[in-house]
Amino acid sequence: LKRGASSFIYPATEANILACAKHIQRGHLVGMPTETVYGLAALALDPAAARKIFELKGRPLVDPLIVHVYAIEQVNALAHVPDVLALLAAEFWPGPLTVVLRKKAIVPDLITAGRPTVAIRIPHHPVARALLHKVGAPVAAPSANPFGYISPTRPEHVVSGFGERLSHILDGGPCAIGLESTILDLTSPNSPALLRPGSISAASLEATLQCPVEEKPIHAPEGESATAPGLFKRHYSPRSPMVLFEENLPEEANGKAACIFLKRPTAPRSKPHSFWFSETGDLEEIGRNLYALLRAVDAEKPVSIYCQVPKGNHGLARAITDRLRRAAAQ
Ligand code: AMP
Ligand code: MG
Repeated sequence: LKRGASSFIYPATEANILACAKHIQRGHLVGMPTETVYGLAALALDPAAARKIFELKGRPLVDPLIVHVYAIEQVNALAHVPDVLALLAAEFWPGPLTVVLRKKAIVPDLITAGRPTVAIRIPHHPVARALLHKVGAPVAAPSANPFGYISPTRPEHVVSGFGERLSHILDGGPCAIGLESTILDLTSPNSPALLRPGSISAASLEATLQCPVEEKPIHAPEGESATAPGLFKRHYSPRSPMVLFEENLPEEANGKAACIFLKRPTAPRSKPHSFWFSETGDLEEIGRNLYALLRAVDAEKPVSIYCQVPKGNHGLARAITDRLRRAAAQ
């Protein structure tokens, strides 16, 4: 292996990808770039290997993992595949869409948190694809960060979360999307449901499926958060307390707070600690920069972070608002 900037980050050369694939095949963990966020990859069908993911992340065992594969043929071995999957796959795979299907016995209970269903995705990041191809087996890969903290979208973020406890991270550059995948529940194929908003919108899923997609509530009802996967109310969270606003920065935001705007503020600001996710307010750019900026601001340990959320409840605006609400939840 040829080492990159940090001693744990490896440039994504063919030789390094092959070495990382072998590391996974031997039951170890690898930091894997994807187009959504960096994943912590391990063999999905080997419970001893997959258990290391939960241990390193401090992730509760009730939170099931997404299984990543290289090709659609592999999905048939893992789950009962409804006809509509072909439509979705033709449109969105490889890409940032995860589907929840009825699992087959080969998938360990550890992966699905004991559920009869399994979540599966075919990512499109070229390094993820090359790695999955070389591993030749399904790979579980939740975000490569300690449970509950801000997701990683650059290899340095992975190093900052795990230090020397994770020896292999492939450098795939900054993530092109920067938000976790859209999750679609297909366990009742005639009434698909959106479990997690992402860069693929409910409207585009509806257009492909030619049927309505039910959007599940953004937050789990009180008390259900531990049993409803993906609905952990607090997640993606900075250490400094976060306050959200839509239009105008609240008056009480004083000089010790950090203020994050969606786009560069027009009026000259007296506030010293102003940041923005995007120059122009472009939602794709906001998504790409969301976690990196939250991390950078959090690292300055401000007394609080005031953060603007996009307007609108659809598509990327919905996905970004979902992440920010959870980041701010107590
Ligand atoms: P991530 O933490 O980004 O890897 O995403 C994992 C999330 O995928 C979980 O928190 C769930 O929301 C969702 N998920 C995984 N497996 C299942 C499943 N079998 N049923 C429903 N949701 C699932
Ligand atoms: Mg995560």
